[in-house]
Amino acid sequence: MSILSTGHKLSLDIGTYCNLSCPSCFRVSQTKSYNEKHKTNLKNHPYLNTHHVTLDQVKSWFPKQFLMDYVHHVEFCGAISEPALNPFCIDLVKYFSQHVKIVSMSTNGDIKSVEWWKQLAKSASNFVVRFYPDSLKPNNSLYRQSNTENVIQNLKAFVSAGGKAVLSQVVFKHNQDEISEFKQLANQIGCNYKMFVAREFTDNKTTSYEATHNEKTYLLEKTDFIPSNPTFKEIKSSDPNTYCTLTYEKIIRVFSNGVIFPCCHVEGELFDIYEDFFLNESNTVPNTKVHPQIYKDIASKIEIQGGIKTLSLKYNSINDIMNSTFYRNALQTSWKLNSNETCCNNCINGTKSSIQEENTNILNIPDLSNRQDRDSQ
Ligand code: SF4
Ligand code: SF4
Repeated sequence: MSILSTGHKLSLDIGTYCNLSCPSCFRVSQTKSYNEKHKTNLKNHPYLNTHHVTLDQVKSWFPKQFLMDYVHHVEFCGAISEPALNPFCIDLVKYFSQHVKIVSMSTNGDIKSVEWWKQLAKSASNFVVRFYPDSLKPNNSLYRQSNTENVIQNLKAFVSAGGKAVLSQVVFKHNQDEISEFKQLANQIGCNYKMFVAREFTDNKTTSYEATHNEKTYLLEKTDFIPSNPTFKEIKSSDPNTYCTLTYEKIIRVFSNGVIFPCCHVEGELFDIYEDFFLNESNTVPNTKVHPQIYKDIASKIEIQGGIKTLSLKYNSINDIMNSTFYRNALQTSWKLNSNETCCNNCINGTKSSIQEENTNILNIPDLSNRQDRDSQ
């Protein structure tokens, strides 16, 4: 059955650059594992800081008709990049905003000038930016290591020029006492406030984790005032169609090199399996050893239909990829046959994305999560 219907969210990384180096970031773990594997000491994985998605690419990868027929929300998600660093960022916002209901972007906010943020604010009326400072206290930013003063200055500039913004707080123990301060600040600035629990704590068991970077170890602890995990409780069935980010939440996840992977839960592992391709597109041979279960459950099905290039927008149209055997049949059939341990276990065991716990919506911004009925529970 075709996965495509109306109301999809297109979640797109628009480059591979970031100005920060947060210890919990995928960029850091990706680099660490490359260095271990190749016995190198590189500052960044060689895939990082190599390219930006251009306006021409976006126009050819996501034609106007596809956007109008299937997509209601385009999100620059920043899984391994800071979207504001893409020199075409404003042009991309302008293009998408003409064809979909809402465009959004998540940013560390500690980048570019106030003038640039004002210009961005004027680029489209259906555009929302989520700013993510970690803490409002000096020397307390453990998770996202930005300069909070710069972030707030840029947020204020963006809002002063008419931009719709959300002050977002990923809540840990180290910043849980700042919730009312965050809310007051959002109110003063004239933007929304949203609180999330870090995805590392979505299994109901983990209460802290350590992240080591630049020879320093950071302890990130779960907030102690959220007693249970709402998302975990929401998964009531073992059928992936009732919780899958691809078929249920309808999120189409696109890498900056144009590859469409089924979801962010297997993105890191699929990156490892196809790392050679990410570094050099002429090398399409997968690494079958690195994550054998994910290879068996997902990558082997990609291989059967012709390999990783069949999921790349550089070689296929988005309609063809979303209607390829892998998306149309293979993945969904494995769910029916109960033969896909990754999909049955990965999501159910709680690696769901962050949870919205509390928010103020003074700007009446539509829901950006694509969680359908879950947010109302
Ligand atoms: S700002 Fe985001 S992409 Fe950049 S290092 Fe931090 S977590 Fe990673
Ligand atoms: S792991 Fe499988 S079921 Fe879960 S979101 Fe990804 S594709 Fe869907």
